[in-house]
Amino acid sequence: MGTQAEEIPRGRGTASKILEVVPISAPRPLSAALYAEARQHMPGGVSSPVRAFAAVGGEPLVFASGAGPWITDVDGHTYLDLVGSWGPLILGHAHPQVVEAVCQAARRGLSFGATCPDEIELAREIRGAFPAMDLVRLVSSGTEATMSALRLARGFTGRSRLVKFEGCYHGHSDGLLVKAGSGATTFGTPDSAGVPAEVARHTVTLPFNDADALERLLASPGSDIAAVILEPVAGNMGLVPPAEGFLQRVRELTRQHGALLVFDEVMTGFRLAFGGAQELYGIRPDLTCLGKIVGGGMPIGAYGGRRDVMEHVAPLGPVYQAGTLSGNPLSVAAGLTTLRLLRQNAEIYRRLEEAGARLEAGLQQSARRHGVPVRMQRVGSMLTWFFTDRPVRNLSEARTCDTRAFGRFFHGMLARGVYLPPSQFEAAFLSAALGEAEVEQLIEAVDGTLAEMARS
Ligand SMILES: *Cc1c(COP(=O)(O)O)cnc(C)c1O
Repeated sequence: MGTQAEEIPRGRGTASKILEVVPISAPRPLSAALYAEARQHMPGGVSSPVRAFAAVGGEPLVFASGAGPWITDVDGHTYLDLVGSWGPLILGHAHPQVVEAVCQAARRGLSFGATCPDEIELAREIRGAFPAMDLVRLVSSGTEATMSALRLARGFTGRSRLVKFEGCYHGHSDGLLVKAGSGATTFGTPDSAGVPAEVARHTVTLPFNDADALERLLASPGSDIAAVILEPVAGNMGLVPPAEGFLQRVRELTRQHGALLVFDEVMTGFRLAFGGAQELYGIRPDLTCLGKIVGGGMPIGAYGGRRDVMEHVAPLGPVYQAGTLSGNPLSVAAGLTTLRLLRQNAEIYRRLEEAGARLEAGLQQSARRHGVPVRMQRVGSMLTWFFTDRPVRNLSEARTCDTRAFGRFFHGMLARGVYLPPSQFEAAFLSAALGEAEVEQLIEAVDGTLAEMARS
């Protein structure tokens, strides 16, 4: 198939919509009323903690709909959305072909608890994008993917300890909720209550980008490391790219010491390139975890890798892992349609890079002009505005950022019609649905917000 750029609906020429619809400090009575109601029924009024706006203050918005790059709250205000459901929506909201595929799948049946054709196609599509994945198991979330991949690594190696890097988030399973960035960082409780010390003890944490620390650990006698897991580009302490040569050294060290290398590409897979960070940086991990984009906005996760390792998964091998709704027909229909659109429109990644570069140049100008210490860290369409004047290379450096300044930035952007992740320690995402007018609008919103921050 040829390129089908026109199949990606974009917000071309609609940027003025933001200015019309969202007055500065718009009142949001319906959001406020619904959120008050939500708090009666759900802890903190949310189904996932960062949604509660604890890190930026103010009341969370309640959303009614999304289309392309736009998201609309229940009060009828429309925003440019840089959250994209925390990463999955690389094609924007409610892409017509993705929605149609889900509707057709739903009419055929919501779940069979048995193999369906789209599931096989999705696995084939994933393998085409990720040559390091000889076999793929579908699950229902990123959390399940990482949890299962690490059980497999332990089952395969016969070793029990894991290495993770501080600030990397790999879902909320017990053994991985140790110095896990994101929500945990925001709330200052890196180790969740309810995780037994005996479980956490099996997880060793090291500073991100510190290959020397990994070398010392792996070389120490009896280190017993089954796997080293990392986000190849960290997105859950804000965007922190790998230092030059870091991923290569982690690859060499794990190989040398017989530990499996697990790339958690739940966020970066199909985002930084069709084949994820491993394509971008040319690294072949032993196991890869996917989620987010691979479900096109529906719940999903996947893990896979070396055939000899994956053959240890039940029913082929002794490592048990299962799921009633795994390979769900609606999720795989959304994911398959999304991946096909991405593959057939490969120029999307170049366009996202261009949009990111323009936004970055705009930020640098505005930061200089208004004298605000802020820097954008970005890889492709994943980015964070860090309120600091120094590069952020790991979690302890991320923690030195001015989170109150981020809170003001967040609310300034919101008032200008841009919805950002409500925390300094999250990545924002550009989507292929953003047109040139929307990118200009973003640059203006950043400039206006930084000008306002400089004045007060
Ligand atoms: C989002 C995310 C997860 C968890 O995925 P869920 O679907 O929320 O369980 C794991 N790892 C990374 C890198 C993520 O960004």
